[in-house]
Amino acid sequence: MSEQLEHVKCLIIGSGPAGYTAAIYAARADLKPVLYTGMLAGGQLTQTTEVENYPGYPEGILGPEMMQNFEKQASRLGTDIRFGYVSSVDFASLPHKVVVDESKTILADTVIISTGASAKWLGLESEQKYNGFGVSACAVCDGFFFRGQDVAIVGAGDTAAEEATYLAKLCRKVYMIVRRDEFRASKAMVHRVLNTPNIEVLYNTETKEILGDGQTVNAVKVINNQTNEETKLDVTGFFVAIGHHPNTEIFRGWIDMDPTGYIITKPDSSETNIEGVFACGDAQDHIYRQAITAAGSGCMAAIDAERYLAAKEHVVTA
Ligand code: NDP
Repeated sequence: MSEQLEHVKCLIIGSGPAGYTAAIYAARADLKPVLYTGMLAGGQLTQTTEVENYPGYPEGILGPEMMQNFEKQASRLGTDIRFGYVSSVDFASLPHKVVVDESKTILADTVIISTGASAKWLGLESEQKYNGFGVSACAVCDGFFFRGQDVAIVGAGDTAAEEATYLAKLCRKVYMIVRRDEFRASKAMVHRVLNTPNIEVLYNTETKEILGDGQTVNAVKVINNQTNEETKLDVTGFFVAIGHHPNTEIFRGWIDMDPTGYIITKPDSSETNIEGVFACGDAQDHIYRQAITAAGSGCMAAIDAERYLAAKEHVVTA
């Protein structure tokens, strides 16, 4: 006997501000959304501390707490929230086929992609070894643990500049490891870095290895790529801030993306190149990447999905 496939009107993939906002709107539009959280339920904000720039929280709120609130609201309004990750999709025909945890196939009339983005890593073995034990990709989340200590941060974009100045407030000294002889960050951010006395910028410098005692980090070996001179920086924390990559690999071949993997949506819309598939949040936005903009685009995706289904129903019943 063949397995009975589950058929849903609206499947939401991802549980950051974009996914949960899409769920809130889709549930209120009676689309009975099913949302799969992915491996990091709540998304990137669960790895931050204080969020001060999300409107409606005059005193600020902790990232994990905010995401719990998003989840509660989506759930209260009727979203079926499930822990699981989408392992593959087949968008060749309607309804769309989505495979969860490499085992369960769901048929979906509409799919909202809100899979977000993840931090990039240098790719060193020692970086993996000490990840969470001195190595971090989020200064705002983990800087607190290095109060009064010396740390290093790699990267030269706005994120690295912002995080370096954040760390400088907590730490005794911040080495900023910049691989070229200039920053990529905006002039204002560079100005701020260069005017922070306890930040030392090391230009033309690359990280060779993160050193430690097997438990925690105690130094970083860097090399000047002009002179080949190696230096050991005595630091207990090593922060990586070299950008993010969108979590869109499973959609490759189906959904149009830019060369770096960000999903391309039609102007003023969350529509992708595939009928009934919508994208929102950091999987689709490499410019703003804020909780509030992700939430806004999640709202757009749910409204687009609802209008798409209504138009189809109208054609069928007309
Ligand atoms: P970016 O892609 O802008 O910058 C990444 C940085 O990491 C670059 O300086 C790059 O060096 C460096 N880098 C990449 N790979 C390596 C490597 N293997 N080793 C060493 N260095 C490496 O990413 P961001 O996260 O900084 O910013 C992303 C977007 O978000 C940007 O548009 C930015 O403006 C925006 N943003 C805005 C903020 C604000 O306005 N407040 C705050 C944070 C981000 P290189 O320059 O040599 O390529």
